[in-house]
Amino acid sequence: MKRLILLALLAVMLPAAAQETKIQWLGHAAFSITTPKGKVLLIDPWISNPKNPDAKDGKDPLASLAKADYILLTHGHRDHVGEAVEIAKKTKAVLICNPELAGNLVKLIGFPKEQAETDAIMGIGGEIEIADGEVTVAMTSAVHSSSVFNPNADANEPERAYGGNPAGFVVIIKNGPTIYHTGDTAYFKDMETIGETYAIDLALLNIGGHYGMEPKMAARAAQSVRAKLAVPHHFATAPGMTQTSDVFAAELKKTNIAFHEMKPGEILAFRGKQVVKAK
Ligand SMILES: [Zn+2]
Ligand SMILES: [Zn+2]
Repeated sequence: MKRLILLALLAVMLPAAAQETKIQWLGHAAFSITTPKGKVLLIDPWISNPKNPDAKDGKDPLASLAKADYILLTHGHRDHVGEAVEIAKKTKAVLICNPELAGNLVKLIGFPKEQAETDAIMGIGGEIEIADGEVTVAMTSAVHSSSVFNPNADANEPERAYGGNPAGFVVIIKNGPTIYHTGDTAYFKDMETIGETYAIDLALLNIGGHYGMEPKMAARAAQSVRAKLAVPHHFATAPGMTQTSDVFAAELKKTNIAFHEMKPGEILAFRGKQVVKAK
């Protein structure tokens, strides 16, 4: 009898779990998104960053990464490209970024060519459908810079090659949330257009300052894009950056935007557009 009840419970719970979108913070600007149908998108996968629990105590963060279908890169800086090449080789994930960045990643650091030359290469203002139509990715503007580190540059070559324009992404998931990842952008007033165009359920905002938005402006960005829930990233990874989310949280308190600080490794689950649990 107990077993029957358990089976009945599982039958009720399993389809529900399959309908969830799961967003995991891997530290710094790195997030993985698992769609209701099980597709995995990685954004800015610097998974060896010191905050990722899968990279602590000598652990190889690649070992715990079993699956990735797409790698989205906001720009070419090393703290965003991270282990994209190794992940692509391991998982066969398809690259989503601008064409100049894609070309130089192939040429300079060995990103697998056939995964970097698909119709998922895109430009700011564009939208693409991926994952058999389950996900739409829009590339948005960012005010920042973008370059690709060339480990083999000789004495007469610049160490940093062109990385195209930096970007942000809006990821629209069928039966799931619409997620905005800012990349490393500064605040810009046209973020209001992003908020007018897309119904952002979750905004992942860089608050580290120094190279990008200071926490106060990141809170303003959350308002401009009309986020329902704001989650900070790109902070406390290194000295010289914003070390806590306190100012960001305090600024958001003055608004009607919900705030949640994820712990590295934490997973936020959505059913439809509603957060169902944080664990
Ligand atoms: Zn950057
Ligand atoms: Zn960065």
